[in-house]
Amino acid sequence: NLSLKRPIVEKKTSVLEIDENTRKNLEINKSIMGEKKSSLISILNKTSTNFGFRILENRLNAPLTDLNQINERLLITQFFYENSFLASDLKEILTICPDFERAFSRLAFYKNSFQDLLTLKRGIKTSLKIKKFFNERKNKHTFPLKLSEILKSFSEFLDLDKILNAALSENSFEIGNQISYVNYGYNLDLDKSRDILSKSEKYISDLESRLIQETNITSLKIKNNNILGYFIEVTSRNVDTLLKNGEKKVFIHRQTTANTYRFTNDDLVLLENQINTASLKIDELELKIFNELKNLFLDYEIEIRSSADSIGELDFFLSIGIVSKEENWVKPEISNSNELTIISGRHPVVEKNVNLKGESTFIPNDCNLDSKKNIINLITGPNMAGKSTFLRQNAIIIILAQMGCYVPANHAKIGVVDRVFSRIGASDDLSEGHSTFMIEMLETATILNQATEKSFVILDEIGRGTSTLDGLSIAWSTLEYLHKNNKSRTLFATHFHELTVLEKILPKLCNLTVKIKELEDNIIFLHKIIKGKSNHSFGIEVAKLAGIPMKVVERSKSLLKDFERGSKI
Ligand code: ATP
Repeated sequence: NLSLKRPIVEKKTSVLEIDENTRKNLEINKSIMGEKKSSLISILNKTSTNFGFRILENRLNAPLTDLNQINERLLITQFFYENSFLASDLKEILTICPDFERAFSRLAFYKNSFQDLLTLKRGIKTSLKIKKFFNERKNKHTFPLKLSEILKSFSEFLDLDKILNAALSENSFEIGNQISYVNYGYNLDLDKSRDILSKSEKYISDLESRLIQETNITSLKIKNNNILGYFIEVTSRNVDTLLKNGEKKVFIHRQTTANTYRFTNDDLVLLENQINTASLKIDELELKIFNELKNLFLDYEIEIRSSADSIGELDFFLSIGIVSKEENWVKPEISNSNELTIISGRHPVVEKNVNLKGESTFIPNDCNLDSKKNIINLITGPNMAGKSTFLRQNAIIIILAQMGCYVPANHAKIGVVDRVFSRIGASDDLSEGHSTFMIEMLETATILNQATEKSFVILDEIGRGTSTLDGLSIAWSTLEYLHKNNKSRTLFATHFHELTVLEKILPKLCNLTVKIKELEDNIIFLHKIIKGKSNHSFGIEVAKLAGIPMKVVERSKSLLKDFERGSKI
């Protein structure tokens, strides 16, 4: 009846859905390069235990949609955010907590290892320490309701703790050739056998000294191996001397090797029997003790699992509380409206990278969407200006908030989102037989068919993989459809400047652009998102920055002029 935890069926609506593509685009678990480094989770992860990390991973990939539940979580995050001394003291305890849940599963399934028992003992000790830690602080602090609930699920482990202290030694010790973890004093029979074993070994070395004395063979040795057991060994030169003693003691020949003769005698046989009997008895008793302790642990399955879960929970909240504090994030206000107001929002990963490079600082940007006046923002601006970053950062802020975490912004009001959709860049999936453009269309189709008024949609370029007029037409009608049918909060970045006229046609669509400074023959990206539209693409300027030969750049400029006049088409 011992098994894996029962799977819990999660109703589709209870989590914020993030499809695989969006996870990839937002670099939630891995960067686009496939590395853990530079992923969102790598920034959030300050967990100390495996179960804490498992919860973080789980919750980041499936944030909540229930307002109350989100707020409950936010209150715990806030508690650790505000009580940083308590947080760092708790972290110290968590740091030494082993993965005792895994040890438990191994025990329940197949493996007989005292190491696993010891891991469980340490886990239970940590769990008791945490219980005590919060008990000692409950008069000084008011714990959020949900935190108190988590704390309640830590068991007392009263009997178990006592038995484990008596039974299991923190450090292994050697008896004879065996390693043991069972304390002296726990089982009297075991102690007796251990005593016989260690005494017999001492007797053997006494016997060796006596024989050396009696025979005067200083090189005489008593050894043992797996085949012969114990034996007296002398070199070939000394055989006669030994056998002369045979009148007094009977030596029974066992084996001859190239240079040595091996014998045994009555004394040695007796001692050997004692050792073997004691060893067998020890093995038998240790196995019995192991099984008793194992069964005891198994009886505590519910308590052990719930302690591990609760430690994981605490570790999760501690982790995001610490990150929120260190990174200077704010607590988001969550509501059931359809608004999205982010003041001075930042992209946590890009911000870190920009700061690391030290050349510039990250420029925060606002996002203001609501269902009344402004559900779609159309963002035009040159390449490299920061459009993608802006789109992604707002999606990330929503995900973080609904997970119960603070967000990288100065202020955030978020109406709960049911699903985040994204269509970003070219993601070829040639192995699946889809061309870039086909992928683009499949992703767009999913959005148009599934996004709701509660969804958040980011679209970074659509219609780029086909002819300009085809692409423009698809992008245009997609916007119209989103505006009229889906009504999702949408950020739409594009290079089709023609689309900016939609601001006059669609009442809830507003144009945004990225501020740049145009120098005589150059541009500087200011990364600031502002109202308005970009006049042209600056594609050729960016090409120049990238090092395209001047000849090509100049020729492009003159061709562009021709195209704009219509003389080449
Ligand atoms: P493209 O149209 O070519 O995809 P883009 O406009 O989407 O370009 P991003 O990829 O978002 O541009 O940003 C390009 C680079 O600019 C980022 O890697 C980052 O280094 C920098 N950047 C973006 N946004 C900001 C910001 N708000 N503050 C500082 N640097 C930024």
